Amino acid sequence: MNNKIIDTPTNFIRNIIEKNIEAKLYENKKWAGTPGPKKNHTNANEDFAKIRTRFPPEPNGYLHFGHAKSIILNFGLANDYEGRCHLRFDDTNPEKENEEYAKSIIESVLWLGYKFQDEVEDNLYYASDYFDYMYQAALVLIQADLAYVDKQTPEEIRINRGTLTEPGKDSPYRNQSVDENLTLFSAMKDGKFKDGDMVLRAKINMASPNINLRDPAIYRIRHAEHHKTGKQWCIYPMYTFAHPIEDALEKITHSICTLEFEDQRPFYEWVLKKLAENDFLDKPLPKQHEFSRLNLTNIVLSKRKLIQLVEENHVDGWDDPRMPTLVGAKRRGYSPNSFKLFMNRIGVSKTDSLIDYGTFEDSVREVLNDECDRRIAVLNPVKLLIENFPDDHIELCEVPNHPQYPERGKRIVNLTKELWIENEDFQINPEPKFFRLFPGNTVRLRYGFAIECTGYETDDSGNVVLVKCNYLPDTKSGTPGSDAIKVKGNIHWLSTKHSINVEVRNYDRLFNSENPNLFDNFLDDINVNSVSKSDVICEESIKNSSPGHQFQFERHGYYIVDPISKANKIVFNRTVTLRDTWNK
Ligand code: ATP
Ligand code: MG
Repeated sequence: MNNKIIDTPTNFIRNIIEKNIEAKLYENKKWAGTPGPKKNHTNANEDFAKIRTRFPPEPNGYLHFGHAKSIILNFGLANDYEGRCHLRFDDTNPEKENEEYAKSIIESVLWLGYKFQDEVEDNLYYASDYFDYMYQAALVLIQADLAYVDKQTPEEIRINRGTLTEPGKDSPYRNQSVDENLTLFSAMKDGKFKDGDMVLRAKINMASPNINLRDPAIYRIRHAEHHKTGKQWCIYPMYTFAHPIEDALEKITHSICTLEFEDQRPFYEWVLKKLAENDFLDKPLPKQHEFSRLNLTNIVLSKRKLIQLVEENHVDGWDDPRMPTLVGAKRRGYSPNSFKLFMNRIGVSKTDSLIDYGTFEDSVREVLNDECDRRIAVLNPVKLLIENFPDDHIELCEVPNHPQYPERGKRIVNLTKELWIENEDFQINPEPKFFRLFPGNTVRLRYGFAIECTGYETDDSGNVVLVKCNYLPDTKSGTPGSDAIKVKGNIHWLSTKHSINVEVRNYDRLFNSENPNLFDNFLDDINVNSVSKSDVICEESIKNSSPGHQFQFERHGYYIVDPISKANKIVFNRTVTLRDTWNK
């Protein structure tokens, strides 16, 4: 199993990195040990990291499955090419960001099994720590006559930007002197103006066929409190300006993002090139590479929509086991390796696709089959009475914890006269090919004896309430001669005296259709039956398990102990059934 997970198939980004390394692009790359502009790095030592990548979430929500793709890609590359991956909070937007989100993001990255802090280096960064550098970078551009303060209204700016078919019009402020721009920008910083009064724009080309190069705004006024810098700043860099600078300050080599940023790449390169030409940034400069984002059927992967699900109480919080968040995944029992196997399976490309949720669940099953010990549970019980079994006798049956891994040990399950078996394991009039219990048939009680069904009792409505049988004394599993008698059926069971009741929560898809995003309002597609509760009978040994313990209930599926469990009532979340039952 581990090999399957570790053997990441190659992809176009790996090919690029291998070519870059072969071309010695990063030979003699300097790194001061902490992020900074050129003057900090030039006299520093050679970087021990062959490449640097980063995962740059905005702390404005919890991480979702899509982020897992980016995390596994970026940290995976750093691990495989002797590099480092930085966790950087892209917190340059003062609104909507907070510490609760930042804390949860750190926990989720660690949960997936990746490290960004160790004895060698601490690579946890906040983009807001670079506000001074970004301000300096803006000054560098103004001084080089590559940026100007524009006093047009936002509406005028929008109109003068032009369209896909028409070029834009130069702003009347475009040829303002460098001194005038420096004075105005400084006044912007000192809080002399209101939000929206003016912006700082890069001076590129208002006739560019790429609208993103028509003098994009790079700094705006926002009199807002920032979660880390408080009221220190009232001007904030635009994301598209801040991001390349963040990458360069951290000496990122490969800046990997999703496809929607492809049109921004020319501006990303322009910012870096100009700041390097003007001696502010150190080479080699980072390069941006885009890949297609993860889309899965029957869920939504957009922070805005996930926030809405939580705030409008369509789910029970961010970690609701139905939520496609990483905190939800942890509670649901989708283990980190399940994500890694899945991401390796689907690969990294530039083609957008919508992947069937069932494909993800297949990876989950494959990983959990390996990771989880087995336990016995009866979901829909009916009583079985072994008529010839001594009344108070307890037969100790040895049960392996995992059929493929004897080293994981065995446990004892008690067999007694009165047992619970699955309702569906008995039929009065067996359908064709039904090999389990019916009057006159012989089956094996798994890990115990062979039994022969002698009869049954029903209630007034004809429901079977008791199944009767006799056991065959010399047939106990694992004893000599036990296989003298051949049976076709093998059923699981629990002693009525040596079992406990637990609550199980069964989950289904959160949305009914494959792509809820196609609805005018995605909430109209919510599956109102996405959760159901049931009482289940489990073997006694379960009572010692604590939150996060996960098992395969034999013949049923994978289940994980939920944190809301109490000593007298364990609650399990069903992670996934053994077989795909959706739409069947
Ligand atoms: P959302 O679209 O859900 O609001 P976002 O892209 O705005 O997410 P960020 O915090 O900016 O969220 O994302 C951090 C990183 O995760 C980015 O590099 C982004 O490209 C990546 N990412 C986000 N969603 C996906 C996805 N569905 N598949 C792959 N990578 C993703
Ligand atoms: Mg974003």
